Amino acid sequence: MFRRTVRGMRDLLPDEAEKLRFIERTAREVAKLHGYREVITPLVENYELLSAKVGEENRKRMYVFEDLGGRKVALRPEFTASIARLVAVKMATAPKPIRLFSTGTLYRYDEPQSGRYREFWQANYELFGSSKPEADAEIVSLTNNLMEKIGLHDYHFKIGHIGILRGVLNQEGVAEEQQNSVMQLLDSRDWDEALRVVRDAGGGSEKCLDTLNTLFEIKGKDPNTVTQEIRETVQDYPEALEAVRNLCEITGLLEAGGVETDFVIEAGFARGLEYYTGIIFEVYVPEMNAALAGGGRYDKLIELFGGAKTPATGVAPGPDRMSLALEKQGTIPSISGDERIMVIPVDGKLVGEAFRISLILRKEGFCTEIETMGRSVSNALSDASRRGITYVVIVGPSELKEGKVVLRNMKREEQKIVTIDQAIAELAEAR
Ligand code: AMP
Repeated sequence: MFRRTVRGMRDLLPDEAEKLRFIERTAREVAKLHGYREVITPLVENYELLSAKVGEENRKRMYVFEDLGGRKVALRPEFTASIARLVAVKMATAPKPIRLFSTGTLYRYDEPQSGRYREFWQANYELFGSSKPEADAEIVSLTNNLMEKIGLHDYHFKIGHIGILRGVLNQEGVAEEQQNSVMQLLDSRDWDEALRVVRDAGGGSEKCLDTLNTLFEIKGKDPNTVTQEIRETVQDYPEALEAVRNLCEITGLLEAGGVETDFVIEAGFARGLEYYTGIIFEVYVPEMNAALAGGGRYDKLIELFGGAKTPATGVAPGPDRMSLALEKQGTIPSISGDERIMVIPVDGKLVGEAFRISLILRKEGFCTEIETMGRSVSNALSDASRRGITYVVIVGPSELKEGKVVLRNMKREEQKIVTIDQAIAELAEAR
């Protein structure tokens, strides 16, 4: 009965955990490289905070419960609401821009499948205070840097701008609530149903439906050609035109900055979370259907949490899917080049000596294990070889009398008798 994890929850075994932590470490390094400082927010938050702008789909999928004090709380389904609260309340007077990084687990009652779990990881980067295209370009470029650094290849960015669709719908008088439903439907690529909602919400003019239909078809790799096509399609919608101009500025900056990655611009692309106001993007690899990262601009969220009007843009890469993508691309990340050393006492009387030597080696920074099963040297050696140990130190009575040990190079299957200092020097050279 207790032999299985709860559906959608996973145990990560050492290899998986190591890969995930490698991605997390790289994500933290990328944060540091770009000036993002880490914040840590609680996993349990008020339901009201989390449900305010998360989008209908994620609202339905929250783990909600009452704590023993009768408060309605939930496990966080995303970081952005918590970070927005923190910025609105605790960092209201901090000088702008504010660049923040966070990482940890999130919880969504999704239907479990490959790359979709109920407990999953995210790294999260947010830039507050700038409405300029350079802030959005920084977020895209940072995401690209992360994908590159972990060793992914052939990935592409799918890019859209929520202002184009909302610009058309605003001018056509479609209320915000209906617009949110349209975005959800577009997120699941249900074009027909999206058009039906627009029609029912009073945006059913021939021109509006034609414009939307044409937008849904526009997609391409060359930013200049695609944005020109979008511009022609929405030429009678000033707010949408402004959004196209913004999109052009951002892609222009990425080009000027030499960010060499494939971009696919899609005019009908929307994301499920309700709070986006500007550029939106996702990252994909050909081997998988699900996005590895998602991000965009959300200029109104801080106000929603009682803060001053603060423009914001950010991205959330998902380490679980990035790890899966590495596996599918056959990339084994070079997680640690560390030598792994095993100290083997020849007999029980030398265990204390083996302990002493292992402490000296660890003090020098070498990853050192000690034989704890009381096995013979030959059995301990085969175990060491099976587990990928690179060097073995054998502690035997005759060598020890001269202050020496046997140092065995497991890869080369060579060994020599050396002093501890000589062993340390040789191991340091191999490191
Ligand atoms: P979102 O917060 O929905 O924009 O998602 C951002 C990223 O988080 C996605 O691109 C995925 O990498 C990751 N992600 C979202 N939901 C899940 C899930 N259920 N399981 C695993 N990763 C997820």
